[in-house]
Amino acid sequence: MDCLFCKIIVGEIPSEKIYEDDDMYAFKDIDPQAPVHFLVIPKKHIQDADALTEEEDALIGRIFRKAGELAKELGCDKGYRIVNNCKEDGGQTVNHLHFHILGQRSLQWPPG
Ligand code: AMP
Ligand code: ZN
Repeated sequence: MDCLFCKIIVGEIPSEKIYEDDDMYAFKDIDPQAPVHFLVIPKKHIQDADALTEEEDALIGRIFRKAGELAKELGCDKGYRIVNNCKEDGGQTVNHLHFHILGQRSLQWPPG
């Protein structure tokens, strides 16, 4: 399968790893939008949020909790943002489900 993030998971494309376990992989975003900006992805290829099924409920819960844990380890004790872009209007450019974690700056709301 020609998927950038699947290639990152297996090490075919280099990345700056932050965390890995059997089910998920976390790495720094190549084009950071905040002093802390990393991505957490399931190792299983899932296209986007719309492709999720009941089977992934526990996995997504674990990813969310781990995302917060990692954000705090990286110094985001004043807060952070978890973002998922879904499909074209959501601004998704890589079609492998991923959560952005941004922090260590004051983020605006609503986003553009
Ligand atoms: P999205 O626009 O939500 O699909 O986010 C895709 C993200 O992947 C963007 O923030 C990119 O900067 C990031 N990205 C693309 N290629 C790489 C890469 N090789 N390593 C790390 N992050 C990447
Ligand atoms: Zn993939």
